[in-house]
Amino acid sequence: MAPVMQSVVTRFAPSPTGLLHLGSAYSALVAHNRAREAGGRFLVRIEDTDIRRCRREYETAILQDLKWLGLGWDGEVRRQSDHFTDYGRELDRLDARGLVYPCFCSRAEIEREIAASASAPHATLHGPDGPLYPGTCRNLAPAERKRRIAAGREHCVRLDSARSAAAAGPYDFVDEHRGRIKGQPLLMGDFVLARKDTPTSYHLSVTVDDHLQGVTLVTRGEDILPSTHVHVLLQRLLGYATPSYAHHGLITDGTGRRLAKRDEDLTIRSLRERGKTPADVFKLMAGGAPHQWRDQS
Ligand code: GLU
Repeated sequence: MAPVMQSVVTRFAPSPTGLLHLGSAYSALVAHNRAREAGGRFLVRIEDTDIRRCRREYETAILQDLKWLGLGWDGEVRRQSDHFTDYGRELDRLDARGLVYPCFCSRAEIEREIAASASAPHATLHGPDGPLYPGTCRNLAPAERKRRIAAGREHCVRLDSARSAAAAGPYDFVDEHRGRIKGQPLLMGDFVLARKDTPTSYHLSVTVDDHLQGVTLVTRGEDILPSTHVHVLLQRLLGYATPSYAHHGLITDGTGRRLAKRDEDLTIRSLRERGKTPADVFKLMAGGAPHQWRDQS
């Protein structure tokens, strides 16, 4: 019997905090083409859990721009803010295993703690996004945690990364462009799984959704590669399969500078209003049109 081939499922997962930008459109193109070339499925997911920064108008505009570019998707668009119960359920599973803890620190307290420890013998550990959380609330006594929660103290929920690393054991993942990569479970320290203002975080919801949506190939910018280390950690803890990854290079301008979201003249909307066609936009990215284009990173 012929082996059963798993069909390719990719996704584009924009956060609607602004109009679709040339750099993000490139990510959409990569995910779209990888699915289409394999006769697989291309999904779109709106990552709008940061309720203060995301806007419905941007979501509508991003979807319109994708259609205009000819990057049609399969099935319904999944909007994360409609699925908080899914993330809460998975967070409860980690909690039941003692792998998470509530953190009551304010941003200012964390900064003070980091500044104070900078001169201490074990200087603060740094992650890809700056100093790591110093772990202040990790050792709070259970009774004190209960007391603070009962008193209505605001808190986020963090992963106990050392315990989680021990529970997960060593792991690795495959990036198509870089080969096998050894997982670094402590890279982001005790990162946030549920924020004070939202019952989830980017790291938790992206991992849960890639699993629930059956994504087999995650294509995204190489700036997100550090996060993959902790996404795979969460997959291990939650018993999910690990997809393949292809972190692509980022589009740069003529001088090699990475395009920033603030370059407003490089939104798809603005390019279109200035008379560019979808073909012009794809040429700006790499040359070629969707279907003929290949990920050259
Ligand atoms: N929502 C993320 C962003 O817009 C994308 C994350 C991902 O592709 O995993 O940067």
